[in-house]
Amino acid sequence: MLSTQVLILNRHYMPVNVVTAKRAFCMLVAGIARVVDREYRTFDFHSWSELSATVHDDTVGLVGRAVRVPRVLILATYDRLPRRAVRFSRMNILLRDGYVCQYCGKKFKRSELNIDHIMPRSRGGRTSWENVVASCFKCNLRKGGRTPDEANMKLLRVPAKPHQTPFAGLARFIKYEEWKPFFNMVDFSYWNVELEN
Ligand SMILES: [Zn+2]
Repeated sequence: MLSTQVLILNRHYMPVNVVTAKRAFCMLVAGIARVVDREYRTFDFHSWSELSATVHDDTVGLVGRAVRVPRVLILATYDRLPRRAVRFSRMNILLRDGYVCQYCGKKFKRSELNIDHIMPRSRGGRTSWENVVASCFKCNLRKGGRTPDEANMKLLRVPAKPHQTPFAGLARFIKYEEWKPFFNMVDFSYWNVELEN
């Protein structure tokens, strides 16, 4: 059970990480994070371990009794990690677009996607957040050296620079029901796509 995953939220209830239950208990015991339950109540290690675990829960034997493995922790201390600018990388473009071809709307594996320049590079199109999108090979071929208008293709949405590094790289899917409310708050197309699955 100590390898099950626990979602870590920052103080604004935004998902920032996924850790193992073992690491989560270390954070809990050290007082750097608190448990968030389904009713959004928070618990420190002591109050959490006082709760009776039922047979249906994931539990670990700690402090001489079964302690429920939390699904979600919230950082109790200020998140000292500096907010870095989003790296303009192939990976982050695909994450921003949710591995969905921005022309046909279908979802693909990473290896089946291209980075398409909306205004072709051959015509002065820049390599920037606003001018590149994930595109499948078929759509890429169909579009060729044309603009979407010329190719009579429509973009799913206007691409923009993400406000923060897509957290999607750390958790490709919503693992537990208890994680869902926190991902609904993240304004990324990626998550919307995933939640429909
Ligand atoms: Zn496509």
